[in-house]
Amino acid sequence: MSRDARYDILFEPVKIGPVTAKNRFFQVPHCTGMGSNWPLSHAAFRRQRAEGGWAVICTEETMIHPTSDAYPGASMRLWDDDDVKTFALAADAVHEHGSLFGVELVHGGLSRANRTSRMTPVAPSHTANKYPTRPQARGMDKADIKEFRRWHRDAALRAKKAGTDVVYVYAAHNIALPMHFLLPRYNRRNDEYGGKLENRVRLLREVLEDTHEAVGDTCAVALRFAVDECMGADGLEWDKEGREVVEMLADVPDLWDVNVSGWEYDSNTSRFSEEGYQEPYIAFVKQLTSKPVVGVGRYTSPDAMVAAIKKGVMDFIGAARPAIADPFLPKKIEEGRIDDIRECIGCNICVTGNNTFAPMRCTQNPVVGEEWRRGWHAERIGPTGSDDQVLIVGGGPAGLEAARALGQRGYAVTLAEREKELGGRLNWETSLPGLAAWARVRDWRLGQIGTMANVQVYLDSFLDDNAIRQFGAAHVVLATGATWRRDGVGHSHHHALPGAGRSGVIGPEDVARGHVGEGPVIVYDDDQMYLGGVLAEKLARDGRDVTLVTPGSDVSAFTILTLEQPFVQQRLRELGVTILQQTDLVAVHDGEAELACVFTRATRRVPAATIVLVTSRVPNEAIYHKLARRPDLLDAAGIKTVGIIGDCVAPGLIAAAVHDGHLYARELDAPPPENPDVPFLREHMDLREERESV
Ligand code: ADP
Ligand code: SF4
Repeated sequence: MSRDARYDILFEPVKIGPVTAKNRFFQVPHCTGMGSNWPLSHAAFRRQRAEGGWAVICTEETMIHPTSDAYPGASMRLWDDDDVKTFALAADAVHEHGSLFGVELVHGGLSRANRTSRMTPVAPSHTANKYPTRPQARGMDKADIKEFRRWHRDAALRAKKAGTDVVYVYAAHNIALPMHFLLPRYNRRNDEYGGKLENRVRLLREVLEDTHEAVGDTCAVALRFAVDECMGADGLEWDKEGREVVEMLADVPDLWDVNVSGWEYDSNTSRFSEEGYQEPYIAFVKQLTSKPVVGVGRYTSPDAMVAAIKKGVMDFIGAARPAIADPFLPKKIEEGRIDDIRECIGCNICVTGNNTFAPMRCTQNPVVGEEWRRGWHAERIGPTGSDDQVLIVGGGPAGLEAARALGQRGYAVTLAEREKELGGRLNWETSLPGLAAWARVRDWRLGQIGTMANVQVYLDSFLDDNAIRQFGAAHVVLATGATWRRDGVGHSHHHALPGAGRSGVIGPEDVARGHVGEGPVIVYDDDQMYLGGVLAEKLARDGRDVTLVTPGSDVSAFTILTLEQPFVQQRLRELGVTILQQTDLVAVHDGEAELACVFTRATRRVPAATIVLVTSRVPNEAIYHKLARRPDLLDAAGIKTVGIIGDCVAPGLIAAAVHDGHLYARELDAPPPENPDVPFLREHMDLREERESV
């Protein structure tokens, strides 16, 4: 196939200062949870994006000095020349495929904890840390400013030495020192770096000029700038000082990378925003500069990309999450394979990796984070290891991914699903408010399987152990999912809740299917992931009187990690949901719920006609055990292996089920790992030299 001429514009080269990008696909700086902590994993991750056709591939935050120490968070590091070799791994990997390598140099200023360096965070003025519980930052004097400029310049030189093509100056996300200088709420100086905007911009201008001077002969100098902080007059606004900054610095950088701040607005989820959501904020920038502009907005549709360029909003289609979910997005557009694009669902599971100091994972793309340690490739997979037939029972995320990946390997696959449609939990979860885009997990796999003659799908086909044995495939894998409990057992209760058997006590699936009686509803969210909050939102939108009761301190506590917490809180409160935090449900009575304070255990009763229990799930594993218990019958039926994947192993995130299905498909008939106890590579520090000095 060849590409549609409508998309030709996306493949035009664009000059950025002294370098030229081969097309308009730009993987903007984004965290991976790997960075300098897992440099080989990081390099392999970036390499696949370069191979997939992105013209520019950037690092995550790269710390320039120990006063900006993000550890144990997995950022990159260019503190001194010792870091250059590690850093260069990613640059070399990206260059292998002819892409430009960009580095986002960062000093985190008053947002840093400096946990390992134990150095004092710095700021324009003496200031409380941006994050509570982190140390206060010290106001910088002129000598400190001079030092900061030197650190930045030295880091730029090291980046150049490591092979960087695009060097970023960072003033975004409210976690960068030059941005802190810009903001009057942090900058209370009365010298030439404080007061009027021209003064507050001074440091940013100086650092841009320093960087040009140091490395601008061969490297493009990019400015990542948040034009709006999404906090109204309390912060930077795109049509006020945000715009003035762009006017003042219009042609100083070689490239403008513009977005909104903080990170929760920049990486907003599909639950709270649509593709292209940043355009209204950033559209003005191109009118003020002759330099190229890159913007983001979860673009996965080539038509939306072309429109953004033709409208004059941006020159480069910036992407973090769309490039995580599909590293080969540009190649697929180039080759006219639009239907093959694995579109990001905007769930921010990738972000949770960074926020837990762990290598990133992705709901749509199970290969993320496994590129180096398991040697997985996003597009390629080994051939079949035999002519064996595989039967997959259950077509939710785990079963669908196993079927897709086994089909790609060339196995004869049969996928049997009890319901009339494939998708499993996705089918009811995506009917809930804000989760429609998650259906892409199902739809992309349906599209792929639909083109595979070797994958047969049988709907409306409940299989029990007898039917499975009768089918007689050489390999059987159970992907039969899990069911939400209706007895209240979960984190807080290890035995059934008194009264849980009463009528009016229901589970999440019942809410999605509209099986909710009249009267006030309590959503008891002991799960504390996302679902309790989403169900409360649906019920409130349906006009119900809703109280969300949770033992947690937050609402849907997991959404802190996905950056959604403030939006969840705001939405539920605006919809009139009563929120009772640090509160337990201890018993159900006739028309009432008995609640208890999690600290004092003092109880009270509140009216509740319906109680939705969001506590934990039971794996649907009975058929697996019936099969496994009778190896003699398996032998007689010609069944060599019986596997189990996804939520029926242990209920978890959709991302975990997809990964499990993929892992099963990769491992079938594959030679066992060298060390089955640790079935992946680890990045060891070589301590041979250091050992002498201990
Ligand atoms: P996962 O996230 O692990 O993929 P899901 O609950 O989303 O789990 O999907 C499990 C799927 O398995 C559901 O679509 C369900 O209808 C199907 N299923 C469960 N038991 C059987 C069975 N015995 N035969 C066929 N399909 C089944
Ligand atoms: Fe997109 Fe979710 Fe994957 Fe992140 S984890 S890239 S938001 S699909």
